[in-house]
Amino acid sequence: MTDAATAPFRFDNTYARELEGFYVAWQPAKAPAPKLLHLNRALADELGLSHDALPGDTAAALFAGNLVPEGATPIAQAYAGHQFGGFSPQLGDGRALLLGEVLDRHGRRRDVAFKGSGRTPFSRGGDGKASIGPMLREVLIGEGMHALGIPTTRALAVAATGEPVFRDTGALPGAVLTRVASSHLRVGTFQFFAARNEADKVRQLADYAISRHDPGLADAPDRYLGLLRAVATRQAALLAQWMNVGFIHGVMNTDNMTISGETIDYGPCAFMEAYDPGAVFSSIDHQGRYAYANQPPIARWNLARLAECLLPLIDADTDRSVAKAMEVIDGFPQWFADALLRGQRAKLGLRTERADDATLVEDWLALMEAQQLDFTLAWRRLADVAEGRDDVLRDELVDRAAGDAWLARWKARCAEEGGDAAGRARAMRAVNPLVIPRNHRVEEALDAASRHDDLGPFERLLAALRRPYDAVPGAERYAEPAAREITANYRTFCGT
Ligand code: AMP
Ligand code: MG
Repeated sequence: MTDAATAPFRFDNTYARELEGFYVAWQPAKAPAPKLLHLNRALADELGLSHDALPGDTAAALFAGNLVPEGATPIAQAYAGHQFGGFSPQLGDGRALLLGEVLDRHGRRRDVAFKGSGRTPFSRGGDGKASIGPMLREVLIGEGMHALGIPTTRALAVAATGEPVFRDTGALPGAVLTRVASSHLRVGTFQFFAARNEADKVRQLADYAISRHDPGLADAPDRYLGLLRAVATRQAALLAQWMNVGFIHGVMNTDNMTISGETIDYGPCAFMEAYDPGAVFSSIDHQGRYAYANQPPIARWNLARLAECLLPLIDADTDRSVAKAMEVIDGFPQWFADALLRGQRAKLGLRTERADDATLVEDWLALMEAQQLDFTLAWRRLADVAEGRDDVLRDELVDRAAGDAWLARWKARCAEEGGDAAGRARAMRAVNPLVIPRNHRVEEALDAASRHDDLGPFERLLAALRRPYDAVPGAERYAEPAAREITANYRTFCGT
């Protein structure tokens, strides 16, 4: 075997080295017939992966888990979590393994992890496996999010295992996803040790999180409060970005909320089509707990769970500790609202700030809701209106008078600000995507891949998602909303 094959990554595994007792060392299951389905070469380059020196079958063996690369220390990480509001003291990597960390070309530390690599001591009743469809889905949505400029974990590779996995719908082809993240620290990681009253471990974990994500806080006297504030600030910015592209995560349990501020775990997530604050797609979210408009308050609720874990570290005096933590948790809604409005102003093509901008946006959203406009295209078409082509948007309106009244207010606001129409339209098209991972296109691509062994639709959709802001000739179909009946009946599934 070549050197590149045995040591394709230059690992440096701080989690395994520094946090003994926070994980179980474990090995991936062997795949009977590995086949590489997808490799993100640009990301591989960024990680310094010597993939060109990897012969095809070595790459397949590597990304299916058959060949544990030199320097990797595969571990299943322990974590707990509130799932739909109920606390599970032990979740953990039941079908995932952290292989280790690499320093990328920019000097950033990135986790490299498997998902679908077999049972671990955290598997409970599960088989530890994953199937092709959901793993390719993770590629599509994650890369779509990345291209939209939204912090996210990313898919490096997907390999088929050649083994069936059994789900409610029958036997499905198995697969392993290789996921890259700035870390896999979750709110639930803190909860695991806090729930066991292991205060020293919570402190150790907080120090590790600080050194990894907020090194500027390392010597600060109030560093644990600082960590809480940093996580809350990142989540406020992240949620604002989700909301401004119509992303619905679907399963915002505390084990699926990162300390890094990256989006993680693309399970039952979906993008909204017609604007509907109550939109929910997950088949198991019967109460609409994780509906579109509920996401910001849920993020705050999750942050309060993190705050509870950190309370003993924040101040020796409990009352003072609670007061300090509450200041952060209560600050979250405003940080979120500020980040949201900043994004919305850019989407409206505004460079300046005026006190009534929030009302202008609210009325625009109310108009979208009343007339059931496609959220993505409605924003995008405003750029056409900025250039004097009102019809593109007006043709979609059921109640033109209401639309015209709002457009007149927005045009007046733009005129007052000044600037040329073409420049404004260009700026708007740089922040209002034309192409998002639309549910019907995602399903079409996954269906072809998992049922017909045809990766063509997946590759073409992925290419379109990588250029969300460009009107690419030939890619028009990826910008089209689904027929209303499809969206109305669309359901996504968890942990599949
Ligand atoms: P998720 O819904 O993917 O965020 O997973 C929640 C918890 O269930 C985590 O502890 C996972 O490791 C575990 N889990 C999900 N699917 C499986 C599976 N097929 N086998 C074992 N554990 C699983
Ligand atoms: Mg999860």
